[in-house]
Amino acid sequence: MIIAIDGPAASGKGTLAKRLAAHYGYHHLDTGVIYRAVAYALINAGKDLRDEVAAAAAARNLDPRTFDNPAFKSHEVGSAASIVSAIPQVRAALIEFQRQFAAKPPGAVLDGRDIGTVICPDAEVKIFVVADPKIRAHRRTLEALARGEAAEETVILADILARDERDQNRAVAPLKPAKDAYLLDNSHLDIEGGVRAAIDIVEAVRAGRR
Ligand code: C5P
Repeated sequence: MIIAIDGPAASGKGTLAKRLAAHYGYHHLDTGVIYRAVAYALINAGKDLRDEVAAAAAARNLDPRTFDNPAFKSHEVGSAASIVSAIPQVRAALIEFQRQFAAKPPGAVLDGRDIGTVICPDAEVKIFVVADPKIRAHRRTLEALARGEAAEETVILADILARDERDQNRAVAPLKPAKDAYLLDNSHLDIEGGVRAAIDIVEAVRAGRR
């Protein structure tokens, strides 16, 4: 089974996807990491984030062994990722890697922006996670502070809104729910509540109730 979890930045979809994968014994891929890896490679090489040739080359030379680099988690790299991810050649170079991952037995949970719409349009379960931008900014601020980074909530909110705008309005694979996705509003759920709601959706699909 393939479970696609999409949604905007800091919606809580990553934790939810990880927990769902653990619950079902499935593989999990946080697809944001691959765009972050491309952005990080460009920043490190001193390249412009809009340099399409350099960005596509970085996407083709991706090394999954670097995916747990803590530097990828920073706010700066996340914003840079939303710029490189709008480059069509970057997205094209990353499709096959994601589809191969999704096909791993016994099942996979992928979280991102276009999993249910572009990468795995045939996923058995699609969940689109949403949450109020102010609540997302508050959560991201707490996470950044916990990592020891300086974090200003109003700046993070502005960044989240700018990122939503870029992700929703890009020409290729914009952030939007698939027609057959279930909407999960995570604004007022804690982690356990969100996980339970997601498991309920998966179970309902499995039982043919949805
Ligand atoms: O989810 P995360 O914050 O790690 O994603 C960073 C950026 O990567 C997003 O803002 C988005 O522009 C891009 N992304 C994407 N498609 C995905 C996952 C992430 O375009 N499947």
